[in-house]
Order: sequence, then C-alpha cells, then structure tokens
Amino acid sequence: MIAILGAMQEEITPILEMVGEYKTTEYANNKFYEANYKGKDLVIAYSKIGKVNSALTATVMIEKFGARALIFTGVAGALKRGIKIGEILYATSLVQHDLDITAFGHPYGFVPGSKISVQTDAKLNSIAQSVAEQLGITLKSGIIASGDQFVSGEERKSWIERTFDASAVEMEGASVAQVCDALGVPFCILRAISDEAGHKAEFDFDEFMVKSAQTSANFVLKMIERL
Ligand code: SAH
Repeated sequence: MIAILGAMQEEITPILEMVGEYKTTEYANNKFYEANYKGKDLVIAYSKIGKVNSALTATVMIEKFGARALIFTGVAGALKRGIKIGEILYATSLVQHDLDITAFGHPYGFVPGSKISVQTDAKLNSIAQSVAEQLGITLKSGIIASGDQFVSGEERKSWIERTFDASAVEMEGASVAQVCDALGVPFCILRAISDEAGHKAEFDFDEFMVKSAQTSANFVLKMIERL
C-alpha cells in the first residue's frame, strides 16, 4: 500500500480523477480513498492545512491503512531565487521553521530528543529524478521549511531562507517527515511552486495553485508507475 497525501482538496482531486474508481472510508474527521492504479494499491487523502493535520493524516495512512511508502504532493512558496512558479522540487530534508526554543540556547527548529532536519528517502528521490528525465522537465531539490504560517513577506521569507538554507516553504512537509521517520516508512515530498512567498504572495497563490497542484499530481502518478 502506497500513500499519496496532499494538504488541500485541490492537491488530490487530480489524483482521484486519474485513478478513476476508489473506495471512500471516513475516519478521524477525514476521508481516505483507496484505489488501484496500474496494479498499485493506493490510499489517497488530503489532510487539511498545517503540521498537526498532516501529522495525523500521515499516521492514519500508515497505522490504519498499512501504507509502506508515502509520497506527498502539493504546492509551496519558493525561497531561493532560481526556483520559479510552476517548477517542481523534491525535499532533500525538512525542517520546522516555526519551532523556536532558542530562549534556552537551542538552535532554531530543534527540540531535545528529535532532529532539526529529517531526510527524505534517496530511492524515492531517484525515482523522481528518472521520471523528470523521462518527461523532459527540470526537477529541482533542496531543503523545505514547514511552519503553521503562510509566508507572504520579504522579511520572514529571507529569514527562513538564511536560517535553514531552505529552497521552499510550506505548511505540512516537516511534520509528515517526522511521522514517517519515526514509523520507518520511506517517504518523499514533492511540491510544485505556486508563489514566491514574498509581498502579496497570496495573489500568485490564488492564480497558480490549481495548475501547480495538477503539475505535482501528474508527476506523482508517474512515480507510482515505477514503484
Ligand atoms: N487559500 C487557502 C490557504 C492556503 S495556505 C485557504 O484560504 O484555505 C497555503 C497552502 O499551500 C499550504 O498547504 C502550504 O503547504 C502551501 N503553500 C504554498 N505557498 C506557501 C507559502 N508561501 N507559505 C506557506 N505555505 C505555502
């Protein structure tokens, strides 16, 4: 069983359309869709926005539905200059940019007993690379920073980029990473860029989110064919 997780409905609607038939189960205030796509058993869901929702949904997909790999599909804000709206990237590792106990002398993003950054699965990432080659598209990669905040300002944007050397920002990846890491489930986080996280990023987000969500969803289903 492979999990495909998004945060917003728009991120998984294209997946559900492409898989065709599915069985819906309601659980934990959410809906989980089971389908078979080209011989692969899938459980598909959108968690709702934020780190808590995405941690809960990832846990349910693994513990209740038996997911043995997880691919996140969705959109993100670009932090580094070279990454443009519509481009796809995968996370090499993920950090929580809003986790702050620096008052006690700890670095940003650190909590005793857990890691600052969680690494994604090298094998899944290399499958992503080969899908990109097959499709003839550029696939970027980098650190993704997650936090319970839509970043739409130059100051916060450049602080996150500098502090974590992050390439993109979103609101779910790092929590999903922590769940998968703790439960020993290989995972990868794919995001197509919807905005550049600066001043008035919400306007770009509204304009490009659906198209970027579709780009990421198409890409993820191509990956599924190769698993
Ligand atoms: N328009 C939505 C809220 C979107 S929040 C509503 O009104 O309900 C942004 C979502 O897209 C999150 O799931 C997050 O993971 C991702 N995202 C895209 N750009 C982002 C940015 N600049 N900062 C943070 N998250 C971003």
